[in-house]
Amino acid sequence: MIEIYDTTLRDGTQGEGVTFSVTDKLRVAEKLDAFGVHFIEGGWPGSNPRDIEFFEQAKSRTFRNARLAAFGSTRRKDIAVTADDQVRLLLDAETPVVTIFGKTWMLHVLEVLQTTPEENLAMIADTVRHLKAHGKYVIYDAEHAFDGYKDNAEYALATWKAAEQAGADCITLCDTNGGSLPADIAAIMRTARATLTAQLGIHTHDDIGLGVANALAGLEAGATHVQGTINGYGERTGNCNITSVMPILQFKLHQDTVRASAFPQLKELSQFLDETANIRPNPRLPWVGSGAFSHKGGAHVNAVQKVIRSYEHIDPSLIGNTRHILVSDLAGRSNIVMKARELGFEISNSTPQLRTMLTHIKELEHQGFEFESADGSLALVIRQAMTEVTPPFVVDAYNVSVRRDGDISTCEAIVKVRVGEQSEHRVAEGDGPVNALDAALRAALIRYYPQLRDVKLTDFKVRIIDSRSGTAARTRVIIQSSDGTAEWGTVGVDDNIVEASLQALVDSLSYALIRPGLNAAVTA
Ligand SMILES: [Zn+2]
Repeated sequence: MIEIYDTTLRDGTQGEGVTFSVTDKLRVAEKLDAFGVHFIEGGWPGSNPRDIEFFEQAKSRTFRNARLAAFGSTRRKDIAVTADDQVRLLLDAETPVVTIFGKTWMLHVLEVLQTTPEENLAMIADTVRHLKAHGKYVIYDAEHAFDGYKDNAEYALATWKAAEQAGADCITLCDTNGGSLPADIAAIMRTARATLTAQLGIHTHDDIGLGVANALAGLEAGATHVQGTINGYGERTGNCNITSVMPILQFKLHQDTVRASAFPQLKELSQFLDETANIRPNPRLPWVGSGAFSHKGGAHVNAVQKVIRSYEHIDPSLIGNTRHILVSDLAGRSNIVMKARELGFEISNSTPQLRTMLTHIKELEHQGFEFESADGSLALVIRQAMTEVTPPFVVDAYNVSVRRDGDISTCEAIVKVRVGEQSEHRVAEGDGPVNALDAALRAALIRYYPQLRDVKLTDFKVRIIDSRSGTAARTRVIIQSSDGTAEWGTVGVDDNIVEASLQALVDSLSYALIRPGLNAAVTA
């Protein structure tokens, strides 16, 4: 079995433009766990307060498939491991797994750490032993393993052995600078395999475009644990992209890795990460990119229509991707059926409303809506198509104004809302237009739906999207909400950011009201 170790939340966040709030991190961890990766590296508690907060909040969550790992380094030189605050924070994170990195390369030992080769070995051994004594599953990341080995093989092996003898459960050889070639990775991994008895892992970077190839070379040569990030996020040109490694292991190498039933959700996982990181998805990403199965050339399209295999290395629906020619909407259809069932609707491929629903969703997607991280809005669209119930409320009119007096600016929102036969008119102030609209909407609705008191907006993201029809660029707003037990996302799209925000807000509150378990409020 090949273990998948996801480091999107740690190494991935060192990439340019990738930042996650604590809430984002928790949502990503949940998503990764649901997908079925074996380890989730949540962060480096010794490096920033946000990661400490993440581990604090993660303590109350249960993960079904993955084991949570805290990341850190070996103890500092010349102090006792028990006196090292950074190591103490690793234990405070209370994760079942702790991953520490240490030095393999003499250059780093002498010139970066400025210590002796012996002290470096002691730093590795002391830290691993200390973590093992506290009952942790310890993964030792050998930084610059390949460059270090090439420089001084004997010392490199000594560092890995120090970790093994101190009890490390897995020793991961890291191509930290990302410049190695697959043949070198394989040769050095084979030597490590012949010398060590512990499980071996591989951690690579994509600096010369070989992150995935190098990881596979490591796996073929004896590693059974692979580290990487979703979509290849990471410093410089990124980490090994596990969004590619996982389907290669599954479909090309037929190796046992994450469970097979997860793969149709791979594209969604990739998009979820882009949405959460607020990164424009890369259409050329292998396997999951929107262009990965696009056929434009006339001859290709023609051939693909006759024999699908003629220009595709695999059936895109196996990883939840779709072919971009209008031959069949079968994949889209089964995705929606799956989603609708997940949301509690009785639906099958032969449900008559399915076709109208699909057409409507495609039209919305064409306008710039995306539902990967807006399950609340998708549920409302599906519900609208399935049942003819009236929405819990309708916004008839609104007005938002911004005033500035000296340094202080205030937003005021006025909304006119209809609930059944009743009409409500409310004014509220807020920090910004969205906040003011939210306050006014709640003030109008709370009398009818007191349960909205528990609904909180947890996140708000704005993206300018390319026009698909040649007109002006549009704005997409995605709001995340929570009522303390469930979390959901909603989306709005318009030329105007306030209008887009209102759509997402209305969906957020509407979904809170129609969510399974809250149905009574709708039919009343
Ligand atoms: Zn790395």
